[in-house]
Amino acid sequence: MAPAPLTPAAPRTAVDPLVIGRRVRHLRTHRGMTLEHLGAAVGRAPSQLSVLENGRREARLSLLEQVATALGVTLADLLSPEPPSRRAALEIELERAQRGPLHAALGLPQVKAGRSLPTDALEAIVGLQREIGRLLTERAATPEEARRANTELRATMRDQDNWFGDLEVHARELLAAVGHRGGPLSQRATAEIAAHLGFTLHHVHDLPHSTRSVTDTAHGRIYLPQAPSASTDPRSVVLQALAAHVLGHGEPADYGDFLRQRVQTNYLAAALLVPEEAAVAMLSTAKDERRLSVEDLRDAFGVPYETAAHRFTNLATKHLGIPVHFMKVHEDGTLHKAYENDGVRFPSDALGAIEGQPVCRRWTARVVFAVPDRFSPYYQYTDTSTGTYWCTSRVQAGGDGTFSVSVGVPFAQVRWFRGRETTERAVSRCPEPECCRRPPGELAARWEGRAWPAARPHASMLAALPVGAFPGVDQTEVFTFLERHAPS
Ligand SMILES: [Zn+2]
Repeated sequence: MAPAPLTPAAPRTAVDPLVIGRRVRHLRTHRGMTLEHLGAAVGRAPSQLSVLENGRREARLSLLEQVATALGVTLADLLSPEPPSRRAALEIELERAQRGPLHAALGLPQVKAGRSLPTDALEAIVGLQREIGRLLTERAATPEEARRANTELRATMRDQDNWFGDLEVHARELLAAVGHRGGPLSQRATAEIAAHLGFTLHHVHDLPHSTRSVTDTAHGRIYLPQAPSASTDPRSVVLQALAAHVLGHGEPADYGDFLRQRVQTNYLAAALLVPEEAAVAMLSTAKDERRLSVEDLRDAFGVPYETAAHRFTNLATKHLGIPVHFMKVHEDGTLHKAYENDGVRFPSDALGAIEGQPVCRRWTARVVFAVPDRFSPYYQYTDTSTGTYWCTSRVQAGGDGTFSVSVGVPFAQVRWFRGRETTERAVSRCPEPECCRRPPGELAARWEGRAWPAARPHASMLAALPVGAFPGVDQTEVFTFLERHAPS
C-alpha cells in the first residue's frame, strides 16, 4: 500500500483553480489592471474576482471566457496548466501545502504569499515543506520496505538451505589462526581472534543505549558493555562486531542491506562458536544413533539455546539431509524470526511477509508457553495443512519479553530425534479462522459488543522503524561516545 500523500490531491478538473487564479492575477497585473477594472469589464464585484484569483472556488466557464476576453487572451491560454511564472509556481506550491493535512498537523501559522514575501524566503519555505514531506513519506514507507526485504532474504536463505559456504570458510580460517582445536570457544580465544584482527576490547559503563557494541575502526577498538545483559552471550557480541569487520561491511545502503549484513554477522559469529567440522561430526553420530537433539548441541559448545537452534538449521539439510524449520515467537504470539525449507506454512500477510504475524495457538511454539516445566525440552506433533510436523521448543527470557525458540521437522524425519516418543499431539487448521483466530461461538455470543479493550502499541520491531544508516541507532550518541573514549 502506498503511503498517504502529504499534499492534497490534485482536483478532478483538468486545471487546478489555484493555477487558473494565479494566471488571472498574473495577466491582470501585467496589464496594469486593478480588481475594480477587471470587475467592471466582466460585470462582477471585485471581491468575486479576488475569490477566483485565490483559487478558493472553481469558476464557471462563462465567467472565465469573459475574463479571458477582458485580459486579451484566449480561453485556452487562460486554462493552461502551466503556472505563469516561477514565483507563481512557488506561491501555488506554498498555498497547496498550507491547505494540506501536514500543515494542519504541525499547527503552524499560515503564511500569505503576498508581494511583501521575498522570493528567497518563499523558496526556503517551499523547500522545507518539500523536505519534510519527503522525510515523512520515506518513514511511512520504511516498514513496507522492511517487510519486502525480509521476505526476499528468507527466500535466499531457503535457496541455499540456510548454509553459507563462504562464511564457514571465514570461520575455519579465523579459528585456525588462533589455534582453536574444537570444542567450546573460550572468552580468551575470542579475545585472541580480536587481537589477530588488530582489535583491542574495552569494557565501558556508558555504551550508547541503542547499541550492543561500538567499534572504533580508526583506532582498532571495540567497546563492550561492562555488565553484559543476561540474555546475550558476551562472546557473540564481540564476534558479531569482528564479523562485520572481517566481512568488510560498510554503512548499509538500505534496509535490505542492513538485514543481509545482520544475517551474515550472526551466521559468522555462530560458526565461530559452533565450528562446522566438530558440530557435524557430533550431529552425524547422533543421527546414526537416532538421538539428535538441539540441547546436546547447546551443551557441547556452551552456547545459548537460540544459537544452537540457529546453528542446527545451518547444518541439518546440508550435512544431515534433514529439512527443517526454525521459529522465534514472542509471548504475545507474534512471529519474530523464522526459517523453513520443509514446507511448513508460516502465518503470513497477503504480501508474504511473516514478521509480526500471529502464530497458530495450537503450534508447539505457542503451546510451550503454558508448559509449567521450563527446564525440560517440550516436544509435540502437530497436524497442519501441509502435513504433520514434530517440533521441539524452549522458552527463554529476552530483553523485550519472553520468547519461544522452536526447531521442527516433517514427520518422516522424526526418527532421527530424541523426543519422538512424545504423546503430545495437536491439530492446527490455520489459516482457517475457525481454528483459533475466531472466538468459540458460545464465548462470542456472550461477549460480542460488550468488550472494549485498549490496544497496547505493537511490540513488533516493524511497527516503527526509525530512519537512519543503522536503523534504531542514535548516531549523535555514538559519535559523542567515540569522541569521549578515543585515545588522544
Ligand atoms: Zn490455529
